[in-house]
Amino acid sequence: MTFKALLTTKDGDVFSTRVVDLTEADLMDGDVTVDVDYSTVNYKDGMAITGRVPVIERFPLVPGIDLAGTVSASSHPDFKVGDRVVANGWGLSQSHHGGFAQKARLNGDWLVKLPDTLSTKDAMAIGTAGYTAMLSVLALEHGGITPDKGDVLVTGANGGVGSVAITLLSGLGYRVVASTGRLEEEAYLRELGAADVIDRKTLSEPGAPVATPRWAGAIDSVGSHTLVNVLAQTKYRGVVTACGLAQGRDLPATVLPFILRNITLAGIDSVNAPQAVRLQAWERLGRDLDLKKLARTTTVIGLEQVPAVAESILGGHVQGRTVVDVN
Ligand code: NDP
Repeated sequence: MTFKALLTTKDGDVFSTRVVDLTEADLMDGDVTVDVDYSTVNYKDGMAITGRVPVIERFPLVPGIDLAGTVSASSHPDFKVGDRVVANGWGLSQSHHGGFAQKARLNGDWLVKLPDTLSTKDAMAIGTAGYTAMLSVLALEHGGITPDKGDVLVTGANGGVGSVAITLLSGLGYRVVASTGRLEEEAYLRELGAADVIDRKTLSEPGAPVATPRWAGAIDSVGSHTLVNVLAQTKYRGVVTACGLAQGRDLPATVLPFILRNITLAGIDSVNAPQAVRLQAWERLGRDLDLKKLARTTTVIGLEQVPAVAESILGGHVQGRTVVDVN
């Protein structure tokens, strides 16, 4: 029995990714086998498939950092045949075959059972980007940023992390300000729940080390000067989360916002987040995310279209979330 998968190979410096037929013998070690329903394209998948950043550690490899499906075989004590599961990160698409395939075999410790309220398609509309948005919201809450504290800024607003962050925060009662380079998408951002939309150019150039305080909190997926300016504009005891580097990996900042305004900069990593944190994030996503709004941010594609979307996401041209129907 064969199944379809995307396979990334590397010949010298040349990366190529195409749809192939694999058999179960091609799967890697693991104590749970999953019939995959959906995967999704994240920014990291763009980096992996194009080879722009060395994400994949062994070749050939099935890329895809996310998958959702149904357990078809298991020797793991926590999972049985028929369980609906999601996996985000860990070794997927780095050292282990990932989610762009109709089947996956992996370590059961990497899996989370889906809440009843979420379908496998919902789970991939959320994907690593949405789960990272939830991790960021949890960090704001942990820092005491409640809706009454003031406006929360979301940068990279049209992206996957940004779109889900706006949806989550507005649903929880925060007044959300969206920063974007695509001002023509203002209506979309307001539909998700943004109360205000600002031009990302106002944040992307070097600015003052401390500036007029505007934000009680912020969720940043952009990095570089944008993150530095957001820190400079954050109110006393505010919290800023950092998960991404869409503008750049640099952080040309001063310590002034930290020592004058008691700002907290909270790092967000989704890949190796402990299981208890993942369970909490997925439980909250199942409870707090408006699925109708999520559906509005989602485009569905097939396996063949993934390489083109991988290029496009690195160019900042993808809006919201892209779900991959692997069947
Ligand atoms: P997307 O490509 O979907 O979104 C990124 C958004 O950032 C774009 O839509 C665009 O929004 C904005 N952007 C793009 N280029 C620039 C630029 N040069 N300057 C300023 N803004 C820019 O990616 P994701 O949402 O999936 O991921 C966002 C970031 O978060 C990535 O860097 C990714 O690697 C990181 N990430 C990290 C995780 C972790 O575990 N730490 C997990 C998930 C993601 P707009 O058009 O509205 O301006």
